[in-house]
Amino acid sequence: DGFKGMGLSHPIVKGIQKRGYKVPTPIQRRTIPVALQGRDLVAMARTGSGKTACFLIPIFEKLKTRIAKSGARGLIMLPTRELAMQTITFIREIGKFTGLKCCLISGGDNMESQFEAIHGNPDIIVATPGRFVHLCVEMELKLNSIEIVVFDEADRLFEMGFGEQLKDIIARLPSTRQTLLFSATLPKSLVEFTRIGLSDPLLIRL
Ligand code: AMP
Repeated sequence: DGFKGMGLSHPIVKGIQKRGYKVPTPIQRRTIPVALQGRDLVAMARTGSGKTACFLIPIFEKLKTRIAKSGARGLIMLPTRELAMQTITFIREIGKFTGLKCCLISGGDNMESQFEAIHGNPDIIVATPGRFVHLCVEMELKLNSIEIVVFDEADRLFEMGFGEQLKDIIARLPSTRQTLLFSATLPKSLVEFTRIGLSDPLLIRL
């Protein structure tokens, strides 16, 4: 029971092949089928476990194909610009055949180019919290078309002091959505956050 048994659509199977994955990692085996059912989940997974594909594959399956005028439908929050850039690289490879468009919103880039990126109507926004909240306020960016949101490296998001911004983002999101949270550890602050940010999540730990 590899990726084949997961019932993935053809463009995504092609993307996985292009990236060179043959069999799913243990965390992929556990999380992808559950996420594909539309459930919220909290997954305890470290970098190196293959967790990026755990959220990208369900995002691609949910969004399927580009809808140019809808506003962004997928949002991925990460603690650092470097991690956000890596995630963009994964999207361009695994998501290559979906035609979905993504953009990076993080500190370190000029605001002008980010205004432009948002106006280009990306399907998926990959962002760090500080700059993203700033842009939401400055651009009066509406997040009401978001269908699926991911908090990756959530423990680091909190360690870096982004707790308030994350709560602000949650408050801007539609209440009907799917939320996935990935973290190496689950400190108390994070458990509290999962109570406000996720709906009846399945907890997956290996
Ligand atoms: P990640 O934990 O998502 O950062 O992935 C760690 C490394 O494992 C990356 O280089 C991935 O490309 C690779 N990887 C993820 N899933 C698989 C898989 N199913 N088969 C082989 N390599 C994988």
